[in-house]
Amino acid sequence: MKLTRTIADMRASVRDVSGGSVGLVPTMGAFHAGHVALFRAARSKCDTVVVSLFVNPAQFAPTDDLDRYPHDESRDAEMAEAAGVDVLFVPSAEEMYPDTFATWVDVGSAGSEGAARPGHFRAVATVCMKLFNIVQPDHAYFGQKDAQQVAVLEQLVRDLNVPVTLNVVPTVRDEDGLALSSRNVYLSSEQREDALALPRALEAARAAAIAQPGSDPVAEARRRLNGGLSPEYIEIVQVGNAKLLAAAARIGSTRLIDNVVIEGDLQ
Ligand code: AMP
Repeated sequence: MKLTRTIADMRASVRDVSGGSVGLVPTMGAFHAGHVALFRAARSKCDTVVVSLFVNPAQFAPTDDLDRYPHDESRDAEMAEAAGVDVLFVPSAEEMYPDTFATWVDVGSAGSEGAARPGHFRAVATVCMKLFNIVQPDHAYFGQKDAQQVAVLEQLVRDLNVPVTLNVVPTVRDEDGLALSSRNVYLSSEQREDALALPRALEAARAAAIAQPGSDPVAEARRRLNGGLSPEYIEIVQVGNAKLLAAAARIGSTRLIDNVVIEGDLQ
């Protein structure tokens, strides 16, 4: 596996690969089995697999967890190499956002998740557009867990005619059902137990929607959470031709998001 830190070197690394398809997996590091599922999906379809590891400062609000976001580059590099990644791109913030930087990609509305995190999806869209231009992948891989992110990137690719195919990989969960997230390390064991209410409510609402067509999954999920976690929002998100039931909740200072497919297929 090659490690690159500059845009010039990243471009040269892709050019060096003769022909074949290129798959890109954008990440912020702190890899877990969810990231590895994306690497493997890219590996199974593409000749060259590029993973970017960039904790995008623009994506974090001043009150967010940028300073304490988990970081272990050598462990991440080992995991990426073991999953068959060809190139790991680890640019610095200065490399991606020099002082002269002034262009942003604004994707318009991004639902309740966008409203809860002003500026977040503008930063996500901008960094992904930069990565698409730097790596020029045929395929890019994103997790279902961040459903609103996928919806925003679908909009971006469609509106700006970006020549990349987006691939959505199903959410990888711990055995008890909690969606894997780099932020789960912030949870105490008690908070982790409380957090299970989120996937359980979504799953119960999904099952109810199947058992009683026409019922309201948002209301059902809200009813299931009643008395436990208080959700920031519960809403339906459209990703491709799938309808997802998505929710966010805060446990202490940690913000968790999750979703389930209630109609259609992600791919
Ligand atoms: P992050 O490093 O948190 O920015 O995530 C990088 C990519 O991994 C994003 O496309 C996420 O949606 C995806 N991802 C994160 N957690 C999971 C998970 N539990 N299952 C599947 N994909 C995930």
